[in-house]
Amino acid sequence: MKKISVFGATGSVGINTLNLLLLNKNLFKVVALTAYNDYKKLAKYAKLLNCNYAVIGNKKYYQSLKNELNGTKVNIIAGEEGLIEVAQLKTDIVVSAIVGIAGLKPTFETLGKTKVLAIANKESIISAGSFLLNAANKTKTNLLPLDSEHNAIFQIFKNEKREYIKDITLTASGGPFWKRHSTNFKKVTIKEALTHPNWKMGKKISVDSATMVNKVLETLEASILFNINIEKINILIHPSSIVHGIINYIDGTSHMIASLPDMKLPINYALNWPKRSSSCVKNLDLQKIQHLSFYKPDYNKFPSLKLKNIICNSKYKKSNIIVLNASNEVAVEYFLKNKIPFIDIVKNINKTIKLFKHINIKSINDVINVDKQARELVANIIEKRI
Ligand code: NAD
Ligand code: MG
Repeated sequence: MKKISVFGATGSVGINTLNLLLLNKNLFKVVALTAYNDYKKLAKYAKLLNCNYAVIGNKKYYQSLKNELNGTKVNIIAGEEGLIEVAQLKTDIVVSAIVGIAGLKPTFETLGKTKVLAIANKESIISAGSFLLNAANKTKTNLLPLDSEHNAIFQIFKNEKREYIKDITLTASGGPFWKRHSTNFKKVTIKEALTHPNWKMGKKISVDSATMVNKVLETLEASILFNINIEKINILIHPSSIVHGIINYIDGTSHMIASLPDMKLPINYALNWPKRSSSCVKNLDLQKIQHLSFYKPDYNKFPSLKLKNIICNSKYKKSNIIVLNASNEVAVEYFLKNKIPFIDIVKNINKTIKLFKHINIKSINDVINVDKQARELVANIIEKRI
């Protein structure tokens, strides 16, 4: 049996993972499940999967979780230190599905204690990528991306030599506003921004898809994970999200991965890697689909896409990326609390990147400090304190 821990178990990626584990109870022993607030969902799955540890990030819910798990053998822990504690436990696979930079420390701690790190937490990859990758190499931890586009590229990439790769294409559905006229962007409501046409995801990534900041994060994520120059990574709008990632080779051949848009596929791939097993998701019926369409992204309609160039041209690339990620997280929170309009998310990111006093990032502590300062700066900008 493979030992597994799931960080961010109550989220969209987390629950997809747990449902796959429930279908394969004889193959996996669940070591730890973690959540931040949702103690009820955590308790439900802790019981269903008979896990050893249940960790609630928000200490406020420790007693409530204890009450829910009364009479079971599940060990209950709370707080960030609880996440770090269970990250030390030996496992075969860890699923890192906490949203945002909050996932960084626990994810980092699992390196060397797990054999496979299946990572969805893109904010940690882009902010601390080189440190994560180095530590994974040193500790011989296999890093498997769960983001659908990156999982697709991972599946293709492993069979070919890097020098044969001309460029990489990540597809983008275009989000809920691909067809909306940009003059109406001022009126975007929270509900509209959260209604993604193809994927059912957590709130933060849904807003990121609506602004298309998600594709900028994903371009950076791909560049770090596959050690490919960011200029060689293209974005193509593909509204039906059937093709996920494409590698173009120097000989004119292209390899692509296609499937129904369902996160169970990349997750199931990682859970079984290097083998494959049924995910209960159907294969494509191409006769039924008939047409696949692809379009050039509109940089004027989605100014977030220009962030890629701003970062590429900057002297302090790593610092810019951390500031982009942190200011986006904070601006999205403000939008979700109805405190800033949709179009101000990207405006505030731009301002924060511009005003931040960037430094050379030499350590994981630098990452944490720059992230913290960028959060303060963007909050000050939004609150008009500066
Ligand atoms: P979500 O909001 O649905 O779930 C987030 C999980 O993280 C929850 O279990 C929550 O309890 C936990 N969490 C939140 N804040 C925390 C904190 N401060 N400390 C500890 N735990 C905390 O998010 P999601 O959509 O599942 O996305 C998770 C990650 O996967 C994100 O980085 C996202 O970009 C990435 N991702 C998601 C999808 C998707 O289909 N949802 C696809 C690709 C990549
Ligand atoms: Mg993706």
